[in-house]
Amino acid sequence: EGGMERHQYDVVVVGAGGAGLRAAIAAQDAGARTAIVCKSLLGKAHTVMAEGGIAASMGNVYPEDNWEVHFRDTMRGGKMLNNWRMAQLHAQEAPERVMELEDWGALFDRTDDGLISQRDFGGHKYARLAHVGDRTGLEMIRTLQQRAVALGIDVFMECTITDLMLDKGAGESKVSGAFGYWRETGRFVMFETPTVILATGGIGKSFKVTSNSWEYTGDGHALAMRAGASLINMEFVQFHPTGMVWPPSVKGLLVTESVRGDGGILKNSEGKRFMFDYIPEFFKSETADTVEEADRWYDDKKNNRRPPELLPRDEVARAINSEIKAGRGTPHGGIYLDIASRRSPEFIRKRLPSMYHQFKELADVDITAEPMEIGPTCHYVMGGVEVDADTQQSAVTGLYAVGECSGGMHGSNRLGGNSLGDLLVFGKRAGEAATAYATSLGSDRPKVVEADVKAAEVSALAPFEVEGGENPYSIQSDLQESMNDLVGIIRTAPELEQSLREIAAFKERAAAMKVEGHRQYNPGWHLALDLRNMLIVSESIAKAALAREESRGGHTRDDFPGPDAVWGTKNLVVNLDADGTGVELTEKPLPEMPDELKKYFESK
Ligand code: FAD
Repeated sequence: EGGMERHQYDVVVVGAGGAGLRAAIAAQDAGARTAIVCKSLLGKAHTVMAEGGIAASMGNVYPEDNWEVHFRDTMRGGKMLNNWRMAQLHAQEAPERVMELEDWGALFDRTDDGLISQRDFGGHKYARLAHVGDRTGLEMIRTLQQRAVALGIDVFMECTITDLMLDKGAGESKVSGAFGYWRETGRFVMFETPTVILATGGIGKSFKVTSNSWEYTGDGHALAMRAGASLINMEFVQFHPTGMVWPPSVKGLLVTESVRGDGGILKNSEGKRFMFDYIPEFFKSETADTVEEADRWYDDKKNNRRPPELLPRDEVARAINSEIKAGRGTPHGGIYLDIASRRSPEFIRKRLPSMYHQFKELADVDITAEPMEIGPTCHYVMGGVEVDADTQQSAVTGLYAVGECSGGMHGSNRLGGNSLGDLLVFGKRAGEAATAYATSLGSDRPKVVEADVKAAEVSALAPFEVEGGENPYSIQSDLQESMNDLVGIIRTAPELEQSLREIAAFKERAAAMKVEGHRQYNPGWHLALDLRNMLIVSESIAKAALAREESRGGHTRDDFPGPDAVWGTKNLVVNLDADGTGVELTEKPLPEMPDELKKYFESK
């Protein structure tokens, strides 16, 4: 391909969700020539699906709320494994980032006094989520997108990045570009740039039952690893407690936590409101232990403790899993989520319009009249690229990561609403840091090595050259099944060991996979390229999950059922090994929290 399409930028952002858009806006605002590259259509990122809201301690509903309480909730939700500095910055800066969205035209729901309204969510002490009905993500993306377009940021959509380019001169690896292909034509494109901000979102597609859509194959995670960066917290995958379980075509589709925040309760097939049986010691002091107190809480939050349905997601997902396993599940293998018997049809339709339509259209269930059937679904990965808390730069100079594909902020479990805040706070920081670095280079920029461009082409086209191999779809479906069964919500050493053996076999099969047809719009080929990333990510998750011999947050080991004090002082970090084919694991001590922050955890 002699005349490969080439572009030059100061900052290239990979991904157009909230994190990517916010980073690009910050970069362009700071004077960088900025591009956004995204795998699907602009506006079709996961961020758009976020329903519940943005966690920010604006104190509009509860004046006693402030960043310190939010910081404490975030750390406790993550079972103290969070990078404290990220949790602190997030709690401190989220309110400003929400106000700024409003300045840019976002229309939030309002309190009676005309302030941005804030709703309750699991793990947050006060009603704190700024929201727009159950369509917060849509409003956020609409606002950011409008801003990005108005600023004149270049957007390359339906364009997938498959390799990062590095200049390894002078002993230090520095980013020099990003290589990808156009989905429609299959033609390659090269972005020459000293900075890449990865904002590629999640990894859910490695699991069979997931709320994630087709794009979420962990590309940013794998791109970073292949460039020499490390991932942190990969054993922690969030299974959202409430995904649809029926009909099969929509299994895994999310049912927002707002249903519980707005009064919905969980019941088993015997009609029992079972969450009272699953209140862990750690949360006893702040959780209601009677139905009466729990029900009073919705109207009087000061004098009552929260209903157990609003415990952090990992607790609720495990409880649901246990009830189903004990034979108290619904006809379709879920649990009942009931708001119909608790709130008026008008209230439900006003507060949860998308949920009402989702169930009506997809399952023929009227949620104002009957309970929903729900069960856990793979939703979010806490783990991601290990970055510097203040700048989001990875171990590779010029390579940044933000949003779901970065790690550290959420520790072992993310609180609902803390993702949207994360995207805004760290998106802005990364965009500014990348611009500062790009500017500091002057004209002395890292160079793209042409042999590496050639190698990226050859490797992308390899699946066309294979004789008689197997197609990527069968490998993907076996991988999804295997991850769901062996690395899912409840884990054991023998199953994790088996999963690593199976992943090794999938890697061998993938090395000989074959795609048919041409480069023009060829989803089989695209999947073949994604699968390389899914395998690296899956191996990272399984390896870290096997090593961590305790249960904490999104990681539950049946053979090590409780949290362990020693493990509570350690992070697990993964890298690619020297020949780039396997995953290596290192233990790393948690960064020490300064005394002025430690004080928030001394008294309960
Ligand atoms: P995303 O919004 O996921 O965007 C990723 C972008 O990267 C996309 O543009 C994609 O096309 C692109 N991309 C991926 N790979 C490549 C590649 N190789 N090359 C080019 N582009 C690529 N969080 C909350 O805080 N509150 C909520 O209420 C909430 N509700 C949710 C509901 C659902 C159904 C889901 C799935 C998630 C929800 N979350 C919620 C989580 C939150 O939405 C996501 O974690 C967050 O939006 C991720 O944002 P992001 O910017 O990191 O990535």
